[in-house]
Amino acid sequence: MARIVMKFGGTSMAGIERIRNVASRVKREREAGNEVLVVVSAMAGETDRLVQLCREASALSDPKEYDVVVASGEQVTAGLLAMTLQGMGLKARSFMGWQLVRSVGAHGNSRIEAIERELLDEALHGGTVAVIPGFQGVSEDGRVTTLGRGGSDTSAVGIAAGVGADRCDIYTDVDGVYTTDPRIVPRARKLDFITFEEMLELAGVGAKVLQTRSVGLAMRENLPLRVLSAFEDLPGTEVVAELGADMERNTIAGIATDRNEAKITLTRLADRAGVVGAVLGPLAEAGIAIDMIVQAASREGAESDITFTVPTASLHQAMAVIETRKADIGYDEMLFDPNVAKVSIVGVGIRSNPALAATMFKALAEARINLIAVSASEIKVSALMTEDQMETAVRVLHTAFGLDSRPDEKAAGAAA
Ligand code: ADP
Ligand code: ASP
Ligand code: MG
Repeated sequence: MARIVMKFGGTSMAGIERIRNVASRVKREREAGNEVLVVVSAMAGETDRLVQLCREASALSDPKEYDVVVASGEQVTAGLLAMTLQGMGLKARSFMGWQLVRSVGAHGNSRIEAIERELLDEALHGGTVAVIPGFQGVSEDGRVTTLGRGGSDTSAVGIAAGVGADRCDIYTDVDGVYTTDPRIVPRARKLDFITFEEMLELAGVGAKVLQTRSVGLAMRENLPLRVLSAFEDLPGTEVVAELGADMERNTIAGIATDRNEAKITLTRLADRAGVVGAVLGPLAEAGIAIDMIVQAASREGAESDITFTVPTASLHQAMAVIETRKADIGYDEMLFDPNVAKVSIVGVGIRSNPALAATMFKALAEARINLIAVSASEIKVSALMTEDQMETAVRVLHTAFGLDSRPDEKAAGAAA
């Protein structure tokens, strides 16, 4: 007997028919003798709808009330699944986030601090399936919180760690982690294994199949984590600490894209020490994270331009902050462009094989893709380009790294 957490995403929970499918998968695990906790997302599209309602209600919506509204989608699916399980003859009950998930940090993007496990242990010992709404928590002062978009993955991993589960299975609308988003590149290939470190980087640079925080948490807890199809019985992807000898590959693990960056350029800054700090300091104070930065000095060395990226949602705020500091920073013009995208390659092999980064730049140059900025970490290289070049870049890189599936292999298994 094992104790397992099964997490089902929005597409898997969209409508009663699909909830029945989820319930039968849960039933199978119960019948195999396992203790089961199920973490559910809101129905696909529901959280977007709720976010939109908040925007319509008030341009400056109170983050505490925003959480009250957007957390509600998961309450509905948790209740519906518990009922459906009961209808199939299983013992099941729902819990709400405020009963279980203590969180800290800003509303709308809280972090899990602790899981109250007593109620869950009691239910599991009595043979009851515990159905838990993902995405929700409770703050120190007793208010409902949410864990950031895509946060049900983190709820699942946090709860699995909190109740000492043997594994956490993330069921979604693709049958595993692919070499890139199979909705962009149909010839993407499913990975049987990926390391925590690679998955963390891939998620961090835009692969939304798992929320980044959920991967970091599973890695710290050394929790066995799998990504599986909610619709087909397929082996999925296992996230592992290290690739064993039989899992080794001589290329990258995958490619991720991010359209969610906007570019700001400040021209003709004095080329003096501390000028980058003068620009970035005020942004950091305003809580705006900067991603890529390039500084290009003029030939005379007296002036330079700085280009950097911020999340698209923070573009206007970032520009307003810089505008108020114009006199301290001393730039000529501020230019901006929200239509940029970041394409990143990720793989543990990048650490030891510089040829992999070289392959990336050669392939992009041959496809005449202009790079606006480049950044690299130990196992990742990212390139910023105009948004209209992004899909071509991903396809070209996918082929250049030998990742395309063969025509006889099954096409990416996207069920919805
Ligand atoms: P859920 O609602 O189940 O949480 P998400 O939409 O958050 O599902 O995540 C699954 C989606 O992630 C897939 O439908 C796919 O389009 C996207 N995706 C992006 N990159 C990858 C990747 N490398 N492998 C698999 N899916 C990916
Ligand atoms: N429903 C939330 C969202 O759409 C959380 C999740 O699905 O993981 O962001
Ligand atoms: Mg998700």
